[in-house]
Amino acid sequence: MAPSKTARVGIIGGTGLGDALVALGGEAVHVETPFGSPSAPPIIAHWEGVDVAYLSRHGAGHRLNPSNIPYRANIWALKQLGVSEIIASGATGSLREDIEPGHLVLCDQVIDKTFRRASTFFDEGIVAHMEFADPFCPNLRTLLTAAGKRVSTTIHHAGTYVCMEGPQFSSRAESNMHRQWGGDLIGMTCMPEAKLAREAELCYALIALPTDYDCWRPVDPSRGPDDLLPEILANLRRATDNAIALIREALKLMKGPPTPCKCHDALKLAIWSDKKHIDPQVRKRLDPLIGRYLTDNDGTMM
Ligand SMILES: [Zn+2]
Repeated sequence: MAPSKTARVGIIGGTGLGDALVALGGEAVHVETPFGSPSAPPIIAHWEGVDVAYLSRHGAGHRLNPSNIPYRANIWALKQLGVSEIIASGATGSLREDIEPGHLVLCDQVIDKTFRRASTFFDEGIVAHMEFADPFCPNLRTLLTAAGKRVSTTIHHAGTYVCMEGPQFSSRAESNMHRQWGGDLIGMTCMPEAKLAREAELCYALIALPTDYDCWRPVDPSRGPDDLLPEILANLRRATDNAIALIREALKLMKGPPTPCKCHDALKLAIWSDKKHIDPQVRKRLDPLIGRYLTDNDGTMM
């Protein structure tokens, strides 16, 4: 079947997965947003009976560092393509002995340490406060857990992701602090992506790909840096293959219309501004997100 220009499921590929997904082919579509161009043109494809739009988070050739990724344009572009659910992936370091490199983790919590990224669509002329107690969609996580039973790798069904600004890795003191905070994984990209997905009323789940242990764990002194990098890359390839297998199994469970979810009405109680005072330009710019909340039942603008 020829791919359509819309998609139900968005897949955001991080380090490793982005290139692997692009290599699978599909139709690249040009999308412009009020927040600029996405990292790369989303690619529309028909996978396991589901229309998907996938996006390489770091762009072609892995050029965008975590601070410079156009997170708002990426989420907006997927929203514009009709996406209702996003499955994202990201390479991470493990903060726990039992989360071994090569495993997969379906994160359920996050600690956001980022500080120089645009992290909201509601930055001018309107105030919205989203609930974010459960940063990752519980329904999508349940679905991925079910899909994981058909994949032959170790999958951890919960984990707290510490998102740091980077691009440098942590100091050892920081790494130990993240462990004391209750962090299970350290990465640089799931924030503000998950927050923006919630603001755009999209379900969002993250598959974390641990590629190594963060620096809290002493390295075997007999092994030099020349040994470590190939090992990290091999772990990333293994985790990438497993993540693609997991996504394929998840898509098999996603036939038909999107599953109703409270994520799709997340803005309902979040807009705190008096709707009569929202500037027409702001209304126009954010219409795909807020338009349905700014009309009365009879369609009159509030
Ligand atoms: Zn949801």
